[in-house]
Amino acid sequence: MKRILTGIKPSGTIQLGNYLGMIKEVIEMQNKYEVLLMIADLHAQTVPYSPKELKEITLDIAKSLVALGVNPNKTILFKQSDVPAHLYLYWILGCLVNEGDLRRMHEYKEQKEKYKDEVGTGILMYPVLMAADILIYNADLVPVGKDQEQHLELTRELARKFNKTFKKFFKIPEIYIPQETAKIMSLTNPYKKMSKSEPEGCLEIFEKEQIIKEKIMKAVTDSEKEVKYDPLKKPAISNLMTIYKHLTKKSYKEIEDEFKGKGYYEFKLTLYEAFINFFKEARRLKNKISNKQIERILNKGAIKANKIANENLKKILKIVGLR
Ligand code: ATP
Ligand code: MG
Repeated sequence: MKRILTGIKPSGTIQLGNYLGMIKEVIEMQNKYEVLLMIADLHAQTVPYSPKELKEITLDIAKSLVALGVNPNKTILFKQSDVPAHLYLYWILGCLVNEGDLRRMHEYKEQKEKYKDEVGTGILMYPVLMAADILIYNADLVPVGKDQEQHLELTRELARKFNKTFKKFFKIPEIYIPQETAKIMSLTNPYKKMSKSEPEGCLEIFEKEQIIKEKIMKAVTDSEKEVKYDPLKKPAISNLMTIYKHLTKKSYKEIEDEFKGKGYYEFKLTLYEAFINFFKEARRLKNKISNKQIERILNKGAIKANKIANENLKKILKIVGLR
C-alpha cells in the first residue's frame, strides 16, 4: 500500500487554503492509503512564537483536523516533536545539503525579509527538516499546496544525493498538488497566497461567523461588476469563485449563470452562506472534542509513527557508518 506523509504547522488556526490545498486530499487518501499526518510543531519554532500558544494551537489544529474528517483510526495523526528520529535524519541530510540551495528557497527569502535578525538559522534549515520528515518514513507521495513544491523538489534532490553518496535506500517521493485549489489567494491581496500566519486575508474555518462574514464582504474585488471567471484580468473575483466552486461543486459556468445581472455583493453574501453551510458539521464536532481526547489520539499516533521511523533510522545509521 502506498504511504503518504504530509504536515501542517501550528502557526495559527486552520484556514481555507489549508483545507482546499491539502486536508481535503488527505481525507480522500486515508481510505485508500496509509496516511501519516503530522502537526509540524518544530517548524513553528522557526519564527518568533509563544511557547504557551504553540501548545494551545497544536491541540487546536489536531482537533480541527479530526473535526474536518481526518479519521484517527485510519490516519496516523501525530506531533512532529514526538518522533526524535526526524531530527537525527535532519542532521545527516544537513551534512549533504548545499547552502546555496537553501538560500534560494522562496519561503526562506520571504520570511527572512519579514523578520530580519529576529529569526535564527532554523528558517534556513527548515526545508532539510521537512525532507527528513518525509524520508524517515520512506513516503511514496506527499500531498501539498503549490507553495511547498520547491521544498519538495529539494526533498527529492536530497533523497537522490543520499542514495548516490551512500547506498540506495530512499524512495524518491512523488509530489501531489491539487489542480484548481493548489493556491488559494488572500482576501486582501489576490497576488499573495492565503496564509494562517497572516490572519487579515485569511478565512479561518473555525472563526466566529460574524468575522467570517465581515472578511468575505470586505474581500477586495476587481474593476467592473461582473461575476466572471478570468484569473488574469479578474484575479480577486476568480479566487472567490474557485472557493465557491469547491464548496458547492458547481462549475464556473453555472456560477456565472447564477450571478448574471447580479453584483459582487450578492455573490459574496451567497459565498458566505455556502462557507457556513459547508463547515457547519465540522464546527459542531470540534466543540465536542476535549483536550484529553485529542492528546490520547496524538499519543497513539506518536507510537505508530515512532515504530516506522525508528525501523528506518536503524537502517540509515548503519548505511552512514554510525552503527
Ligand atoms: P504559514 O503562514 O504559517 O506558513 P500556512 O497557511 O501556509 O501557514 P502551512 O502549515 O504552512 O500553512 O501549510 C499546510 C498545508 O497547506 C501545506 O500543504 C500548504 O502547501 C497548504 N497551503 C497553505 N496555504 C495554502 C493556500 N493558500 N492554498 C492552498 N494550499 C495551501
Ligand atoms: Mg506555509
